[in-house]
Parts: sequence; structure tokens; C-alpha cells
Amino acid sequence: MENNSLHIPVLLQEVIAYLQIKKGMLVVDCTVGPGGHAEEILKRVGESGYLIGIDRDGEVLREAEKRLSGISNRFKLFHANYRDINLVLKDAGFGKIDGALFDLGASSYQMERPDRGFSIKSDGPLDMRMDRTDAVTASNIVNGCTKQELAFIFKKFGEESFSNRIAERILKERRKKRVENTSRLASLIAEELPARYGSKRIHPATKVFMAIRIAVNREIENIEEGLNKIIPYLNTGSRICVITFHSIEDRVVKNVLKDFKKSQQIKIIAKKPIRPTYEEIINNPRSRSAKLRVAEKAYIGQ
Ligand code: SAH
Repeated sequence: MENNSLHIPVLLQEVIAYLQIKKGMLVVDCTVGPGGHAEEILKRVGESGYLIGIDRDGEVLREAEKRLSGISNRFKLFHANYRDINLVLKDAGFGKIDGALFDLGASSYQMERPDRGFSIKSDGPLDMRMDRTDAVTASNIVNGCTKQELAFIFKKFGEESFSNRIAERILKERRKKRVENTSRLASLIAEELPARYGSKRIHPATKVFMAIRIAVNREIENIEEGLNKIIPYLNTGSRICVITFHSIEDRVVKNVLKDFKKSQQIKIIAKKPIRPTYEEIINNPRSRSAKLRVAEKAYIGQ
């Protein structure tokens, strides 16, 4: 699929404003995806600035490369997990940085390609790996975990109230035949859940799909490690922006930032997370659950 307009960047103006992007800055986009935020950042840092873009999805990096090279050559893309930010910066030959962005979660580019296995709506293999070179797929989890492990994943990463019941149903089904497709998993969850659970717009399997995606991609550990590693690289007065799409991620971000604040390494810029405007939500429904947290490297603790 050749289409980078598929993914609309979320809270774009807010990110540019809060990062205080100016000419000459060195900015790291830890989740560059198809390059929506990166494009605007690259335009604004100019010929004296530089952008480092990281993504663990090698396929989406090709989109980013195409899009960004139309603007300038003041960027470099890395196929890496942002938890290895220290290695990326070393490789790129940079020490301190002037800003960083995390736009967590999956891109529309990933979600809407059936073959990637993220989609509830269209059938595909149960894959869900953001990095297709990783070993563990959604199928490995769905067909390999114990009932207790499955229930734990659904509860912890999906806040699914019917986690035990769904885990039990999966075990029953997979004894007959391995569950290999997104549509089979989605429909057995829909069958299992009480009538009217979930609304018309939101599929009843949404929470379980999200939970499996988080487990496959180890998203919670990545956020914790990524934030902990990148903050020390920020120059004094430089900022970090983190966009999350669900409460579990947001809580992790909030707690990591709180710890850095306690040790006086950062200032929290917006006490309450920044939310998209009504107009943005109408224009891009995917943004409806987005929350942006901003922190600034403090003078003390340097
Ligand atoms: N800001 C981008 C969209 C980013 S979507 C834009 O506006 O165009 C989120 C991206 O983060 C996805 O491409 C996903 O592969 C990537 N990602 C998720 N977890 C990651 C991790 N741990 N390390 C690197 N990239 C990650």
C-alpha cells in the first residue's frame, strides 16, 4: 500500500508548540511511523537542525524516508526499538538532544493492513508484531499461553472485565483447532460476551485485541525503559512530548515522569494531559482517546 495520508498525525500543532521547535534544534522522533509529525518538525528545524527518526517497523520506515526526503536531507532514520535510544544516539554520533517525541501505539498504516493482523474488522493472520523480525506473534500467545496467562493479559493490558470467560472460551476453541485468524478470534469473543456488551461503534473484542497487541510488542516495558533512557539525554530547558491512546499507557507515562520530577530532573509542563480539540476528533476519530504529556529538563539535577 502506498499511502502515507492514511495516518493523520494526532495533536500535531500542540506537539510543535510544546516542543518549541526552532531552527537548529536536534529532535528525536522515537516513533516516526509514516512521518507525519516528523515532516513538520523537519521543516521547522531547517538546514542547521537535524531529525532522528526511530521505528521498530521496517516497512513504515520506507514511507517515512520517501516523505521526509522531499523536504530536506537533515535527517536519519533508524530501524530500532526506542528502548535502545542510547545505541541509536551513539551510532548517529550525537550526545545531548533538544527535544523528543513519543507517539505511542500502532499507526493506521499498521492497523489497516489486514496482513499485519491488528485488525478486528478485516480478516488476517494473528500476527500483530510491529517489528516483523520479532519472534513472538499474537498466534503464539493465543495458542500457547495458559488460561491464567491469557486472562492476566486481557485484564492487565485490556482492562477487560470478562477476561476469565474469554480465556476459557479460547482454550475450548483451540482444543478443536488452533485460532489463527483475526476474524475467528473476534467472532468467538463476540459470541462469548453478553448481549449489548460494547457499543455499536466499538467491537466487543477491542479490549482483547489491544491487550494482545501490548503483550506481543511488550509495549509497557518499552515505554518505561524508553522514557528512562531518553530523559538524561535532554539538554536543560528541552522538552519531551508523549502521546498515549489508552489509560494503561498514560498511567505508565505519568508515573515515570512523576519519578523524574521527584528527583528534580524535570518540570511537568501541563499538569493535566492535553487533549485534542473537538474539531480534531471530528476530523480524525482515532484521536479521540489521545492524551499528550509534556515535561521539560530542569536546571537542577544536571
Ligand atoms: N507520529 C507518526 C505516527 C506514529 S504511529 C505520524 O504522525 O506519522 C506509532 C509508531 O510507533 C508505529 O509506526 C510503531 O511501529 C512505532 N513504535 C511502537 N513502539 C515502538 C518502539 N518500542 N520502538 C520504536 N517504534 C515503535
